[in-house]
Amino acid sequence: LNRRLAEFGTTIFAEMSALALRTGSINLGQGFPDTDGPEEVREAAVRALRDGRGNQYPPGPGIPELRTAIAAHQQRRYGLAYDPDTEVLVTAGATEAIAASLLALVEPGDEVIALEPYYDSYAASVALAGGTRVPVTLRPDGNRFRLDLDELRDAVTGRTRMLLINSPHNPTGTVLTREELAFIAELAVERDLLVVTDEVYEHLVFDEAEHIPLATFPGMRERTVTISSAGKTFSFTGWKVGWVTATPELVTTVRSAKQYLTYVSAGPFQYAVAEALALPDSYYTGLRDDLRAKRDVLAAGLTEAGLSVFHTAGTYFVTADIRPLGESDGVAFCRALPERAGVVAIPTAVFYDHQEAGAPFVRFAFCKKKEVLEEAAHRLKGAA
Ligand code: PMP
Ligand code: GLN
Repeated sequence: LNRRLAEFGTTIFAEMSALALRTGSINLGQGFPDTDGPEEVREAAVRALRDGRGNQYPPGPGIPELRTAIAAHQQRRYGLAYDPDTEVLVTAGATEAIAASLLALVEPGDEVIALEPYYDSYAASVALAGGTRVPVTLRPDGNRFRLDLDELRDAVTGRTRMLLINSPHNPTGTVLTREELAFIAELAVERDLLVVTDEVYEHLVFDEAEHIPLATFPGMRERTVTISSAGKTFSFTGWKVGWVTATPELVTTVRSAKQYLTYVSAGPFQYAVAEALALPDSYYTGLRDDLRAKRDVLAAGLTEAGLSVFHTAGTYFVTADIRPLGESDGVAFCRALPERAGVVAIPTAVFYDHQEAGAPFVRFAFCKKKEVLEEAAHRLKGAA
């Protein structure tokens, strides 16, 4: 491994999914649904394949139909106007959008502030770009993880180039409030920072929580790169269709990196995702209601098994504290859990620089059939 990648071994998701297969465990580790997305969207992909649409290289920025659908979605949901020709870029999943944004916008030595625990590709992408990551830790406060706004402000230095934000937040399930987002926006404007905001869980918000895109705050439209993905919204994580919306200058810059990473992503899926984005509101509310019920099944099961559960306001993850079980090391707990209980989970410590801050927390995915979640809860209770 080269020096930039030396600290990154195999991603925890690959390690834990392999462990689930090897032990025949229920995999509540890697976040992917066990039910595929809408039939009509799958049919749209099949039609595109059959009709010969997208079987050869699609245009570099993405097919016009999809760019138009992405812009229409941002307008309809959030009142954000983006020009599909100059302000939208289709990527190979949100993962490539993150990597391309960092490679294009970060100079070696620049500091990138990210919320900790952070999705693992953030750290690797900052490293590949030659940047320095500066984690600001989300800390438990009652039943949610809270961002300390003073700590965030104090983390900004003369070398800070970018705030890398994620809300709804993986792995904690926290959704930043309007006040927290407004603070982030004011800080970015005041200190003239770029903001890359990963909003892949934008539609997975529950109860009273609301997803408010950072780009809607004053002064943010021109400094924000917004990232999302069809993987989460439409339950097609294997399709790897993501996107970026930003100003023409920022999109052009991100595209300059993207063109040498993948050039384009899979054509037929782009046609299908364009159709998916036009699904009626009932699709989105149905997805939310289904996941909220699953969240409640898992959270109740984990509680009954003796773990202390944090409230999930968004995403399809529940984070739990294992200390009530007399355990304190989430990594050891997750390594042993498949043998002990036939369940796989993710230790959130791997998403921290300050690993001690995340040591007792474990993440469980609930984007699984209700009976699978119930069986997992039953096994955990038996093993506790
Ligand atoms: N960002 C976050 C916060 C995620 O959780 C994920 C996937 N789990 C991604 C980005 C990557 O999305 P994609 O699969 O579209 O590359
Ligand atoms: N985003 C998903 C998760 O957090 C899957 C990530 C991956 O496999 N790279 O579980």
